[in-house]
Amino acid sequence: MTMTSKEIRQKFLEYFESKEHLILPSAPLVPKDDPTLLWINAGMAPFKSYFDGRATPPNTRVSNSQKCIRTNDIENVGNTARHHTLFEMLGNFSFGDYFKEEAIKWSYEFLTEEMKLDSSKFWISIYKDDEEAFDIWVNQIGIPKERVVRMGKDENFWEIGTGPCGPCSEIHYDMGADFGCSDDCKFGCECDRYREVWNLVFTQYDLTDDGEYNPLPNKNIDTGMGLERLASIVQGVDTNYETDLFQPITNFIGEHTEFDYQENDDITMAYRVIADHIRGVTFAIGDGVLPSNEGRGYVIRRILRRAVRYAKKLNLKVPFLHKIVPVIVDIMGDVYPEITEKEEQIKKVIKNEAIRFQETLDQGIQILEELIEELDQNNQEIIPGDKVFTLYDTYGFPKELTEEIAKERGYKIDEAGFESAMAEQRARARAAREDHEQDHAETKLFKEIRNEINKPEFVGYTMMESKAD
Ligand code: ATP
Ligand code: MG
Ligand code: MG
Ligand code: MG
Repeated sequence: MTMTSKEIRQKFLEYFESKEHLILPSAPLVPKDDPTLLWINAGMAPFKSYFDGRATPPNTRVSNSQKCIRTNDIENVGNTARHHTLFEMLGNFSFGDYFKEEAIKWSYEFLTEEMKLDSSKFWISIYKDDEEAFDIWVNQIGIPKERVVRMGKDENFWEIGTGPCGPCSEIHYDMGADFGCSDDCKFGCECDRYREVWNLVFTQYDLTDDGEYNPLPNKNIDTGMGLERLASIVQGVDTNYETDLFQPITNFIGEHTEFDYQENDDITMAYRVIADHIRGVTFAIGDGVLPSNEGRGYVIRRILRRAVRYAKKLNLKVPFLHKIVPVIVDIMGDVYPEITEKEEQIKKVIKNEAIRFQETLDQGIQILEELIEELDQNNQEIIPGDKVFTLYDTYGFPKELTEEIAKERGYKIDEAGFESAMAEQRARARAAREDHEQDHAETKLFKEIRNEINKPEFVGYTMMESKAD
């Protein structure tokens, strides 16, 4: 192997340390003091207060490798070579210190000199009016102008409401024509060919309430690069799943199923989804989130249950998924000691949830099959909302799962009907609530585990107590 993911991560941090950055450890996945965010979803997320001036950073230059969860990418997992629920984002940040020129030059230098990537494969996107970025890439770095592409506000301008904002520039790597979705697949296509690797955000404006973009006195840099993607390119493999971050996991799964990783697209997808989802769930539980019916706990429950469903496609025995945890700990436990420390609890939670879900899954699938048959006979294509709700409420079948199975079979679900059934049930539960014994799905074992890991930083528990119906 050319370079291990450990070496890549290490080299990134060392490179920016050599440029006087303070190396900070990854923050937990559960945001601290930020009710607007469910999960830390980018390297800059823990530093928001440094960017908007509410707090003073420990150094004006900072670098990290941050664990992130993005639930908006769940559907992409396994379908693309490059999206995960949990991934690591490598980042360098400037709080009113260096700006565009250094950020671009260092990103280029790191990729070409430290990672030894071939810059003739680079495609650069910039914001259409960012002449400064164009000049740096073309005249200072020497990227041919044909491969520096101007994009609009949607793609290459970062802003959330009013306040600090600015253009960004992204570095993509052309994987070659074999990866294209068609013969005329061009840069800008969403397929796996032109792989987005690194996003450099230049926070240089302050957007006022009147819609004016005023130059910021203190300009900031915020960059983010997916470690798994970078590793796939450096290691010369087709997808993130063939890197050393994932391969031990897929190999381990392979030892327990009769299906080969390459057997067919569905089987490969199942391997990938399981590997991805158990990684995500392992890290989330490691940071104190437990499966439940609300908020973060619901996200974890949904991800875990999705993994159970894919495990069924591989005929994996139940319970099995918890056995993957030590493999993950082996790969990443030294960098993220929290998963090493909580290995046993993580295994217990996954095992318990998987067993419980398998039982309901068998029952739920049968009910869904009957429903579909009934719709078929009546020439209908939409599964009624109240039925979707019953599956969710009584059989523990997440709505998304019903939707997914329905979609596979060419059916839709009545979303609005589901939502109103849900609202009705919430109102009923609120009225009927008598004590604090809230999560009706909670088993005795669950409570034991919860007590075991019920430490002050254990935010998932607090959320469950305060928000569950
Ligand atoms: P994409 O367009 O591929 O979905 P993005 O534009 O949403 O990525 P950014 O928000 O710019 O991603 O994040 C910075 C970097 O983090 C990306 O360039 C990529 O390397 C990595 N990244 C983003 N989302 C994921 C994900 N779901 N899984 C793995 N890596 C990711
Ligand atoms: Mg994205
Ligand atoms: Mg993108
Ligand atoms: Mg991007």
